[in-house]
Amino acid sequence: MLNIVLFGPPGAGKGTQSENLVARYGLVHLSTGDIFRRNIQNETVLGQLAKSFMDKGELVPDSVTIKMLESEVNGQLDSKGFIFDGFPRTQAQAEALESFLAEKETSISCMLALEVEERILVERLLGRAAVSGRSDDADETIIRNRIAVYHSQTALVAEHYKTQGKYIGIDGIGTVDVIASRLFSSIDGLLAGKVQG
Ligand code: AMP
Repeated sequence: MLNIVLFGPPGAGKGTQSENLVARYGLVHLSTGDIFRRNIQNETVLGQLAKSFMDKGELVPDSVTIKMLESEVNGQLDSKGFIFDGFPRTQAQAEALESFLAEKETSISCMLALEVEERILVERLLGRAAVSGRSDDADETIIRNRIAVYHSQTALVAEHYKTQGKYIGIDGIGTVDVIASRLFSSIDGLLAGKVQG
């Protein structure tokens, strides 16, 4: 299986680039944010719980998020692999992912980390709010909190993959197509047996 963690701060372009990766490699896209938003729309108990955290730009508790993600993976084990978008966001999530993938005799192939400076992230998210309809994109205070949470709780997850030699940094500034081609060349390099940074 080809299992990719697509990493980066809010507004880095993970959702947009996931679509490109799905189209090219036929992977299953698992975005924890999208799954939570679906649950909110369908007014499930999980959605209600997630909303209380998402509205503030805080992380949904690990226990809930990990259980949800694992059940999504279990339902699609016959796929070519997964793009994990917005997961793992904590060390506990990274460890849980590693152990349940190991139980299924697979593992993370690489982490592709989109690198974008904060000023551009805020601009992109505010611009996206009109299209996404997401209340957490429309309010600059919530955006700043999401970025702060990224720095305090999520950025460290990259170390987990760096120590395993699985981290690939990608310049996340440029057009959608240019960034996609950077991602493609890293993945193609990996598939050909050599990692490109
Ligand atoms: P995203 O769509 O990835 O920007 O996520 C939107 C919101 O969903 C985040 O601000 C969190 O509140 C919540 N969320 C998404 N993924 C996770 C995760 N892996 N762990 C905890 N909370 C998450």
